[in-house]
Amino acid sequence: MSGVVVDRKPLKELNTFRVNVFAKYFTEIYSKYELLDVLKNPEYKDLPKLIIGEGSNILFTKNFKGLVVKLSNNFIDEAYIDDKSVTLRVGAGLSWDELVKHCVIKGYGGIENLSDIPGTVGAAPVQNIGAYGAELNDVVSYVEYLDLDDLEVHEISRKKCKFGYRNSIFKNELKGRAVILNVELDLTRGKHDIKLDYGNLRDRLAKIYEGEGKSIDDIKEDEIPLHDIRRAVIEERRSKLPSYSELGNGGSFFKNPVVSVEQYNEMKQKFPNLPGYEVEEGIKIPAGWIIEQCGWKGRKMGNCGVHDKQALVLVNYGFATGLEIKELSDIIMDDVKRKLGIQIEPEINII
Ligand SMILES: Cc1cc2nc3c(=O)[nH]c(=O)nc-3n(C[C@H](O)[C@H](O)[C@H](O)COP(=O)(O)OP(=O)(O)OC[C@H]3O[C@@H](n4cnc5c(N)ncnc54)[C@H](O)[C@@H]3O)c2cc1C
Repeated sequence: MSGVVVDRKPLKELNTFRVNVFAKYFTEIYSKYELLDVLKNPEYKDLPKLIIGEGSNILFTKNFKGLVVKLSNNFIDEAYIDDKSVTLRVGAGLSWDELVKHCVIKGYGGIENLSDIPGTVGAAPVQNIGAYGAELNDVVSYVEYLDLDDLEVHEISRKKCKFGYRNSIFKNELKGRAVILNVELDLTRGKHDIKLDYGNLRDRLAKIYEGEGKSIDDIKEDEIPLHDIRRAVIEERRSKLPSYSELGNGGSFFKNPVVSVEQYNEMKQKFPNLPGYEVEEGIKIPAGWIIEQCGWKGRKMGNCGVHDKQALVLVNYGFATGLEIKELSDIIMDDVKRKLGIQIEPEINII
């Protein structure tokens, strides 16, 4: 059905919150030529457009009265390879975790800590996906996109992507304008930069090895196989996050706020257990801790609620509308501001 535009497309299966909304028009695209054909069609040219991957970072609060474009170009090209490195050019429509799996099998290092993150390769630069001490920013070299304003294809380097914490040029200057077509990644071969010091990753891996009668201390850190790290990440994530196929959700709903060192020290007097870790801009505080502190963990409001294992995750118990979920998030943000004086903000794209 590539390049074909359909009317009134239900989006329930195309967003992980499983919110029941419709797109006025919808098309699935496998190449930039198909994309250009649709975009140049006078019928759709002037309509609002929304690019969608797997809908795992979108909360729809209403029907979309324009054209929703789903990218499904899913190639992996090896642009360069030597003993120490490999450069991959990957189509935006490929599932991100399929790419991670492929790389781990081939022994390409750099994205194993980003295992099991839902979504597509094309969406990954938008919020600079990150987990367990790794970010897309660590490995991207170029992003190719089509600009909806001039319908020209542009290629920009990592530096020009202006990556930050869950942020990039695609959420700012190029918001709503760039259709990411493919992403180029520089990965390692042979020796990898193994990252285990985030969350419970090291403990999780130690337990896995224990179960196999081995000790993590007997293995040199840079010799830990990539697939063991992937396994530890997946087990760790699945022990904490609800599966969206069972309970609609969009992963972390809020960003972790960053406060100044002074504000952090002030708060620490009031909350001696306040967690926080240093980042360039100040101290980052886990939003999940904050929300839990305000009493929201496990609370329900109508058809939606805050997950009982991870307060950062808002869930749809089956029939919630996007507006109900947004309303819950607004109430939580106000409550946190009132009780702790911290302004948290959504990580999710609210449409
Ligand atoms: C259970 C769960 C766990 C998660 N864990 C993590 C995590 O650990 N770390 C993390 O960073 N994120 C996490 N997320 C969020 C989500 O997986 C990522 O943001 C992912 O990159 C979204 O991919 P997607 O294809 O679903 O994008 P969508 O949700 O479809 O779109 C997200 C945004 O990107 C835009 N977009 C999508 N594709 C393109 C494209 N080709 N060109 C231009 N714009 C595009 C959309 O318009 C929208 O603004 C999690 C989500 C869930 C549901």
